[in-house]
Amino acid sequence: MSHLHLTPDDLANAIRNVPDFPQPGVQFKDITPVLADARLFIGCVDLLTAGFAPGSVDAVVGIDARGFIFAAAAAYTLRAGFVPVRKKGKLPYLTHEQSYELEYGTNTVAIHADAVRPGSRVILMDDLLATGGTAAAAAALLQKVGAEILEITFFIELSFLGGRAKLPDWPVRSLVVY
Ligand code: AMP
Repeated sequence: MSHLHLTPDDLANAIRNVPDFPQPGVQFKDITPVLADARLFIGCVDLLTAGFAPGSVDAVVGIDARGFIFAAAAAYTLRAGFVPVRKKGKLPYLTHEQSYELEYGTNTVAIHADAVRPGSRVILMDDLLATGGTAAAAAALLQKVGAEILEITFFIELSFLGGRAKLPDWPVRSLVVY
């Protein structure tokens, strides 16, 4: 059960590529085999939180929906709070919203207006960086509430889509890069 020698390659080998899901042309990165394996999931969260000491971060912010899985585990590991950025219409209280462009149409993400105190030190986390639109919108929400983003952390990055370019103002780190 030891995860001490886990490498990003061990994680990469467990990511399942599903062609043409949810639509033709998309190579969907299925992370459920990683989550279901104790050694891989624990090792993944350890790598995601590497470089941060417990107590040094106020909150880990996770993006709806797979980002919640990693961000909540990372928050527990770092003894930090967990804050969700959700798709529009899901959060019950007062929210800030941020829209971003998709290939066809727009998406909107939201955060509770009181979720993060101004000056809070946060990590923003999601399962996968593709075009970067989602993470950039989430980062804009965090700026709106006055948070300091220490790092934007992804399990997987599809580097050929160039999403990093949309996140120029923060350190961006990914465990598995395609
Ligand atoms: P983007 O805004 O283009 O960077 O898209 C990132 C979001 O879409 C993340 O929350 C991912 O969960 C999801 N996503 C995008 N492309 C994929 C993919 N090929 N496989 C799995 N999830 C993806």
